[in-house]
Amino acid sequence: MGELYLVATPIGNLKDITLRAIEILGEVDLIAAEDTRQTLKLLNHLGIKKPLISYHHHNRREAGEKLIKRLQEGNKIALVSDAGTPGISDPGEDIVKLCVEEGIEVYACPGPVAGIYALTVSGLSTDKFVFEGFIERDGKGRREDLERLKAETKTMILYEAPHRLQKTLSDIYEYVGDRRIAICRELTKRHEQILRLTVGEAIKYYEENNPKGEFVLILQGLTQEDIDKEREERYENLSIVDHILKYIEEGNSKKDAIKLVSKERKLPKSEVYKESLKIEN
Ligand code: SAM
Repeated sequence: MGELYLVATPIGNLKDITLRAIEILGEVDLIAAEDTRQTLKLLNHLGIKKPLISYHHHNRREAGEKLIKRLQEGNKIALVSDAGTPGISDPGEDIVKLCVEEGIEVYACPGPVAGIYALTVSGLSTDKFVFEGFIERDGKGRREDLERLKAETKTMILYEAPHRLQKTLSDIYEYVGDRRIAICRELTKRHEQILRLTVGEAIKYYEENNPKGEFVLILQGLTQEDIDKEREERYENLSIVDHILKYIEEGNSKKDAIKLVSKERKLPKSEVYKESLKIEN
């Protein structure tokens, strides 16, 4: 049996290739590449000559079968994508699944991931995060994605194309809220830029600056402050009495309704109780 190596390659700066990646690319029998022309440039830069085979999203089934056959014949194969880590918003997942099914060993040669770079420099919480990659472009799927983002408490990593950046920012503003966001552009490249601001500020910025290059967005998760603010806004136009009545209508006892209202409005229970006396039984 052969072995499959998922080899991470630079996301911009060619110096971000690991010594081990160079070694593996030099040792394998074959390199499966998302875009053979792109990979050829990297291999020329590294002075490596190897047979290349194309493996991308659209041919992953047929090409995957060929690769499995070559692996079963004992070949060592490296899989590389155009940039960064294979399998992360890039081809990789399917061939790894096939290898696992066929009992073929898979190794990764770790290296750059645009989303992780962006997360670490974002200034937002790195403690718990989710990788969202590209959200759906339109329709029901997009609305569902935005709804999920709205409720997410962990820091979110999003990828976006430059021509869709403004639309995505305004959808986040409308459906998710005016959170903190880090907009990370052209990482490791000459025009690298990290903007740390709010979604509303970012919208204004891109009204005056045309988005160019590659982007990662790091979006702050839902905080307790956001939850409190939203709750306050919801009950802003409601009197205390109406607020109590609303909970009673929802099936709570008067006593529980008073408790809930005092907790939500951060008011002493005695004060809410006094108001509740206005309600006729
Ligand atoms: N496999 C890659 C990785 O490990 O990050 C991601 C590939 S995905 C097809 C391409 C997207 O990654 C771009 O549209 C952009 O959102 C992000 N990306 C890749 N390189 C980047 C860079 N140098 N700066 C900012 N974003 C980048």
